[in-house]
Amino acid sequence: MSSSSLNIFERWYNKNMSVLLPVCKKTKVTVIGAGRVGITAAFTMYLKNTAQEIMLYGRDKDKLIGEQSDFMDSLSFLGTTHITVGSEPSDLVGTDVIVFTAGAAQEPGETRLDLVKKNIAILESIIPDILKYAQGSIVLMVANPVDILTYKAVLLSKLPRTHVFGSGTTLDTARFRFHLSEYLRVNPKSVHAYILGEHGDSSFPTLSSANVGGQLITTMKDFSYEKAFEAYAKARDAAYKIIAAKGATYYAIGVVVNELVYAILSDAERVYPLSVTLNGEYGHKGVALSVPCVLGRNGIERIIEIPLSEEEKLKMELSVETLKKYL
Ligand code: NAD
Repeated sequence: MSSSSLNIFERWYNKNMSVLLPVCKKTKVTVIGAGRVGITAAFTMYLKNTAQEIMLYGRDKDKLIGEQSDFMDSLSFLGTTHITVGSEPSDLVGTDVIVFTAGAAQEPGETRLDLVKKNIAILESIIPDILKYAQGSIVLMVANPVDILTYKAVLLSKLPRTHVFGSGTTLDTARFRFHLSEYLRVNPKSVHAYILGEHGDSSFPTLSSANVGGQLITTMKDFSYEKAFEAYAKARDAAYKIIAAKGATYYAIGVVVNELVYAILSDAERVYPLSVTLNGEYGHKGVALSVPCVLGRNGIERIIEIPLSEEEKLKMELSVETLKKYL
């Protein structure tokens, strides 16, 4: 039945019950790469009951079985999610969302772009094989450099760009909102401000449209450009500090992955800054970087073009140029 032939109640029911009861549908998420990020993302989804089945997929089956047992030992206190293990491409049959975390992580002092060669080779060795068995699935790229890998994954998969995209600057944006909230003295959930562009050093904050409760933050009593750029710099440099201190970042990205997968499976149509291959939006094409996107059951449902100041447009161009050098 087409959605236009449903009455208003039926449309409300379909939309809201799928948001309220995502676990009632048979949903399967496959996490590729069972390292720190993959396992933390899987465990976050497991705690939140985000999908009915979460499959841990990787090369080292013994390690995966160990992880599976460790997860399942908590089942008496948790929900009904099945944790499964896969190491053959055919194990992906039935997957709704693939979360791609396989790849080398930054060492202290390395940028995300330093990982490009190794991680493209890993991507090329995995994506074509697994997609033979998971044709209808949505691919969420997390491994770095996420913008370059997203662009390559779209080409390799031959899937629409709306079905293959990256977590992009969702994590950077969460960090930025938190740091802004500290000095604007408001809950971070009420700060509507983005970091866009590369998930990396050429990202930029969109201060010209950032607002709290509809009020531009640039007009708020406590606002100062210096403090706002300090908040941005803390967000941009967070990964370097965390990696220097403890070797890797994985808790916050685990929560981000859960949030994005939940938005897909529940058709939430929420807006996140995702890494998507541009095709003329913001005046650019042939590159993937983060812009605000509506995320739902069909992946990226649409791209939102927010107004950028002249300075922000220049910064986006810088991100585009930086990334294109690596393509
Ligand atoms: P890790 O070294 O702990 O784990 C990497 C995993 O990839 C390992 O399990 C390894 O076995 C697997 N792997 C490597 N080559 C493989 C191959 N050919 N086939 C199958 N599996 C393979 O690294 P991590 O800390 O989990 O980080 C993973 C990736 O996530 C890195 O690229 C890191 O930079 C990225 N990351 C992204 C974000 C983000 O915001 N997008 C945040 C944090 C980390």
